[in-house]
Amino acid sequence: MERLRSKIRDIPDFPKPGIVFKDITPLLRDPAALHLAVQQLLHPFIGGNLTAVAGIEARGFIFGALVARELGLGFVPLRKPGKLPYDVRSIDYELEYGSAALEVHLDAVGKGDRVLIIDDLLATGGTAKASCELLESLGAEVAALAFVVELDFLKGREKLGPYPIHSLLNY
Ligand code: AMP
Repeated sequence: MERLRSKIRDIPDFPKPGIVFKDITPLLRDPAALHLAVQQLLHPFIGGNLTAVAGIEARGFIFGALVARELGLGFVPLRKPGKLPYDVRSIDYELEYGSAALEVHLDAVGKGDRVLIIDDLLATGGTAKASCELLESLGAEVAALAFVVELDFLKGREKLGPYPIHSLLNY
Protein backbone atom coordinates (compact mmCIF):
# COMPACT_ATOMS: atom_id res chain seq x y z
CA MET A 1 0.00 0.00 0.00
CA GLU A 2 2.92 2.38 0.62
CA ARG A 3 3.87 1.81 -3.00
CA LEU A 4 0.42 3.08 -3.99
CA ARG A 5 0.50 5.95 -1.50
CA SER A 6 3.76 7.22 -2.99
CA LYS A 7 1.98 7.48 -6.37
CA ILE A 8 -0.77 9.83 -5.15
CA ARG A 9 0.30 13.46 -5.56
CA ASP A 10 -1.12 16.30 -3.45
CA ILE A 11 -1.98 19.43 -5.42
CA PRO A 12 -2.80 22.27 -3.02
CA ASP A 13 -5.53 24.76 -3.92
CA PHE A 14 -6.90 22.80 -6.89
CA PRO A 15 -9.52 23.25 -8.29
CA LYS A 16 -10.09 26.05 -5.79
CA PRO A 17 -8.35 27.58 -2.75
CA GLY A 18 -8.36 25.36 0.35
CA ILE A 19 -8.84 22.03 -1.49
CA VAL A 20 -5.93 19.57 -1.55
CA PHE A 21 -6.53 17.59 -4.73
CA LYS A 22 -5.40 13.96 -4.69
CA ASP A 23 -3.89 13.48 -8.14
CA ILE A 24 -3.93 9.82 -9.21
CA THR A 25 -2.19 10.32 -12.57
CA PRO A 26 1.26 9.20 -11.25
CA LEU A 27 -0.41 5.94 -10.18
CA LEU A 28 -2.01 5.52 -13.62
CA ARG A 29 1.39 6.06 -15.29
CA ASP A 30 3.10 3.28 -13.29
CA PRO A 31 2.16 -0.17 -14.66
CA ALA A 32 2.95 -2.06 -11.44
CA ALA A 33 1.09 0.43 -9.26
CA LEU A 34 -1.91 0.44 -11.59
CA HIS A 35 -2.01 -3.35 -11.62
CA LEU A 36 -1.73 -3.47 -7.82
CA ALA A 37 -4.48 -0.87 -7.34
CA VAL A 38 -6.89 -2.75 -9.61
CA GLN A 39 -6.15 -6.11 -7.97
CA GLN A 40 -6.63 -4.64 -4.49
CA LEU A 41 -9.85 -2.88 -5.51
CA LEU A 42 -11.49 -6.04 -6.82
CA HIS A 43 -10.06 -8.52 -4.32
CA PRO A 44 -13.01 -8.56 -1.84
CA PHE A 45 -15.49 -9.07 -4.68
CA ILE A 46 -14.14 -12.20 -6.34
CA GLY A 47 -16.97 -14.74 -6.35
CA GLY A 48 -19.36 -12.13 -4.94
CA ASN A 49 -22.34 -12.66 -7.26
CA LEU A 50 -21.93 -9.25 -8.88
CA THR A 51 -23.61 -8.65 -12.23
CA ALA A 52 -22.06 -5.28 -13.20
CA VAL A 53 -19.53 -2.61 -12.28
CA ALA A 54 -20.57 1.06 -12.40
CA GLY A 55 -17.98 3.84 -12.61
CA ILE A 56 -18.46 7.52 -11.78
CA GLU A 57 -17.29 10.06 -14.41
CA ALA A 58 -14.48 10.58 -15.04
CA ARG A 59 -11.75 8.93 -12.97
CA GLY A 60 -14.15 6.20 -11.86
CA PHE A 61 -14.31 5.11 -15.51
CA ILE A 62 -10.61 4.25 -15.51
CA PHE A 63 -10.59 2.05 -12.42
CA GLY A 64 -14.15 0.81 -12.94
CA ALA A 65 -13.53 -0.45 -16.45
CA LEU A 66 -10.33 -2.23 -15.42
CA VAL A 67 -12.06 -3.86 -12.44
CA ALA A 68 -15.01 -4.91 -14.62
CA ARG A 69 -12.65 -6.50 -17.13
CA GLU A 70 -10.79 -8.41 -14.41
CA LEU A 71 -14.02 -9.65 -12.82
CA GLY A 72 -15.42 -10.68 -16.21
CA LEU A 73 -18.31 -8.22 -15.89
CA GLY A 74 -19.73 -5.41 -18.00
CA PHE A 75 -19.35 -1.72 -17.21
CA VAL A 76 -22.01 0.97 -16.59
CA PRO A 77 -20.98 4.64 -16.93
CA LEU A 78 -22.57 7.11 -14.50
CA ARG A 79 -22.17 10.40 -16.34
CA LYS A 80 -22.46 14.13 -15.92
CA PRO A 81 -25.65 15.61 -17.42
CA GLY A 82 -26.15 15.77 -21.16
CA LYS A 83 -23.49 13.21 -22.14
CA LEU A 84 -25.49 9.99 -22.51
CA PRO A 85 -27.29 9.68 -25.86
CA TYR A 86 -30.20 7.35 -25.00
CA ASP A 87 -33.05 7.77 -22.47
CA VAL A 88 -31.67 8.56 -19.01
CA ARG A 89 -32.55 8.62 -15.34
CA SER A 90 -31.08 11.67 -13.56
CA ILE A 91 -30.38 12.56 -9.96
CA ASP A 92 -29.52 15.99 -8.54
CA TYR A 93 -27.47 16.13 -5.35
CA GLU A 94 -25.77 18.63 -3.07
CA LEU A 95 -22.00 19.07 -2.97
CA GLU A 96 -20.05 20.82 -0.22
CA TYR A 97 -20.38 24.00 -2.27
CA GLY A 98 -23.18 23.97 -4.83
CA SER A 99 -24.96 21.11 -6.53
CA ALA A 100 -24.36 18.54 -9.25
CA ALA A 101 -26.17 15.81 -11.17
CA LEU A 102 -25.49 12.33 -12.53
CA GLU A 103 -27.22 10.32 -15.24
CA VAL A 104 -27.46 6.68 -16.26
CA HIS A 105 -29.11 5.00 -19.24
CA LEU A 106 -32.55 3.62 -18.34
CA ASP A 107 -31.66 0.16 -19.61
CA ALA A 108 -28.17 0.01 -18.04
CA VAL A 109 -29.25 -2.00 -14.98
CA GLY A 110 -32.48 -3.36 -13.57
CA LYS A 111 -34.10 -5.73 -11.12
CA GLY A 112 -31.81 -8.65 -10.30
CA ASP A 113 -28.60 -6.69 -10.87
CA ARG A 114 -26.02 -6.54 -8.06
CA VAL A 115 -23.71 -3.65 -8.82
CA LEU A 116 -20.27 -2.63 -7.54
CA ILE A 117 -19.76 1.16 -7.73
CA ILE A 118 -16.21 2.42 -8.29
CA ASP A 119 -14.69 5.88 -8.04
CA ASP A 120 -11.17 7.16 -7.49
CA LEU A 121 -11.94 9.00 -4.26
CA LEU A 122 -14.51 9.18 -1.46
CA ALA A 123 -14.76 12.69 0.01
CA THR A 124 -18.07 13.85 1.54
CA GLY A 125 -19.90 10.88 0.01
CA GLY A 126 -22.49 13.00 -1.82
CA THR A 127 -21.52 11.70 -5.25
CA ALA A 128 -21.40 8.08 -4.10
CA LYS A 129 -24.76 8.29 -2.31
CA ALA A 130 -26.39 9.83 -5.40
CA SER A 131 -24.91 7.00 -7.48
CA CYS A 132 -26.48 4.41 -5.17
CA GLU A 133 -29.88 6.10 -5.36
CA LEU A 134 -29.66 6.37 -9.14
CA LEU A 135 -28.97 2.64 -9.62
CA GLU A 136 -31.57 1.66 -7.02
CA SER A 137 -34.19 3.79 -8.78
CA LEU A 138 -33.78 1.42 -11.74
CA GLY A 139 -34.37 -1.62 -9.52
CA ALA A 140 -30.73 -2.67 -9.09
CA GLU A 141 -29.09 -3.56 -5.79
CA VAL A 142 -25.86 -1.80 -4.78
CA ALA A 143 -23.66 -4.63 -3.48
CA ALA A 144 -20.72 -2.42 -2.42
CA LEU A 145 -18.61 0.62 -3.24
CA ALA A 146 -14.84 0.72 -3.76
CA PHE A 147 -12.43 3.68 -3.86
CA VAL A 148 -8.70 4.08 -4.29
CA VAL A 149 -8.61 6.98 -1.82
CA GLU A 150 -10.84 7.81 1.17
CA LEU A 151 -10.62 11.19 2.94
CA ASP A 152 -11.60 10.01 6.42
CA PHE A 153 -12.01 13.50 7.88
CA LEU A 154 -14.92 14.25 5.52
CA LYS A 155 -16.89 11.29 6.93
CA GLY A 156 -18.28 10.11 3.59
CA ARG A 157 -18.53 6.61 5.04
CA GLU A 158 -21.17 7.81 7.53
CA LYS A 159 -23.30 9.18 4.70
CA LEU A 160 -23.22 5.80 2.99
CA GLY A 161 -24.78 4.07 5.99
CA PRO A 162 -25.22 0.35 5.48
CA TYR A 163 -23.39 -0.11 2.16
CA PRO A 164 -20.13 -2.10 2.33
CA ILE A 165 -17.24 0.26 1.52
CA HIS A 166 -13.76 -0.81 0.44
CA SER A 167 -10.97 1.77 0.15
CA LEU A 168 -7.26 1.27 -0.41
CA LEU A 169 -5.66 4.42 1.01
CA ASN A 170 -7.01 6.47 3.91
CA TYR A 171 -6.04 10.08 4.61
P1 AMP B 1 -17.79 13.74 -2.70
O1 AMP B 1 -19.12 13.73 -3.39
O2 AMP B 1 -17.60 14.93 -1.81
O3 AMP B 1 -17.50 12.44 -1.99
O4 AMP B 1 -16.69 13.94 -3.82
C1 AMP B 1 -16.27 12.85 -4.56
C2 AMP B 1 -15.97 13.20 -6.00
O5 AMP B 1 -15.22 14.40 -6.13
C3 AMP B 1 -15.14 12.11 -6.61
O6 AMP B 1 -15.60 11.87 -7.93
C4 AMP B 1 -13.72 12.64 -6.58
O7 AMP B 1 -13.03 12.28 -7.73
C5 AMP B 1 -13.87 14.15 -6.46
N1 AMP B 1 -13.06 14.73 -5.36
C6 AMP B 1 -13.53 15.30 -4.23
N2 AMP B 1 -12.55 15.76 -3.45
C7 AMP B 1 -11.39 15.44 -4.09
C8 AMP B 1 -10.00 15.63 -3.77
N3 AMP B 1 -9.60 16.23 -2.64
N4 AMP B 1 -9.09 15.16 -4.65
C9 AMP B 1 -9.48 14.55 -5.80
N5 AMP B 1 -10.77 14.35 -6.14
C10 AMP B 1 -11.72 14.79 -5.31
